Amino acid sequence: MKILKFFLTTIVLSTASLANAAINVFTCEPEWAALAREIGADRVRVSTAISADQDPHQVQARPSLISAVRQADLVFCTGAELEVGWLPVLLARSANPRVQSAPGLLYAADQVSLIEQSSSTDRAHGDVHAAGNPHMHLDPHRITMVAKALTERLATLDPQGKAYYHQHLVDFLQRWQAAIEKWESRASHLKDTEVVVHHRSFSYLLNWLGMRAVAEMEPKPGLPPTPKHLGEILSKVEKENIGLILFTSFNGSQGANWLAKRSGACAVQLPFSNEKSLFSLYDELIEILVSKQGECL
Ligand SMILES: [Zn+2]
Repeated sequence: MKILKFFLTTIVLSTASLANAAINVFTCEPEWAALAREIGADRVRVSTAISADQDPHQVQARPSLISAVRQADLVFCTGAELEVGWLPVLLARSANPRVQSAPGLLYAADQVSLIEQSSSTDRAHGDVHAAGNPHMHLDPHRITMVAKALTERLATLDPQGKAYYHQHLVDFLQRWQAAIEKWESRASHLKDTEVVVHHRSFSYLLNWLGMRAVAEMEPKPGLPPTPKHLGEILSKVEKENIGLILFTSFNGSQGANWLAKRSGACAVQLPFSNEKSLFSLYDELIEILVSKQGECL
């Protein structure tokens, strides 16, 4: 009887803690879903607007996404105008007062400094990232800063979980710091490697690893490559002996393959996000770059 009572109490307690504790987190991009699961673990329920191979610049404000935002306690997105074409629609149509502003709305880009801020003239010429490059999830040091801000925000929304979130942050940062050291050591030969990119998707990654993008296939961020522009890049690739042309799934491989075919350089598709694990995302990025550098330079 005693044992039965113990089990019953345990079941009641765990059901109660789940029902009380879970914070609904809606993330715009998969990388933030992965981070929210690291810090929030069992106290959060996480959904994401897009999968890892979808383009975060262009998302349909579907009814399922509106419904997810309606149920959210926290909307966690990149910001810096990355979602300017769709997140305002989701927020407005959800009519959820909890997530229209802080503390229920958190932008990762607001927690860090941004590179590649453009002038108003660039904006007029079609630059979709005039506020600065929003793709900061590919700098592991900026991820650290966002993880800390997310921890504080979860603790504000769910004060009973404060110690829990802090404990998960400490654990995450220990593993993350060790992984950064491993990645930096593995990628040390990539330093000073010059590459061509499709979009400015990898600027933070390249800066971190000491690599350099010498050309972008998009004439301005967000504008499709033109034959004239690709022709100019081809001469550069040939003249400067560039070995790697980087793109990601939603860019399409057409421009990269066109350049690779004519120059002998390698068109290299890199992952852009990973909903399950930021560690896997970086592992994969570094392994592809290291192996392709060996093959293609
Ligand atoms: Zn972009």
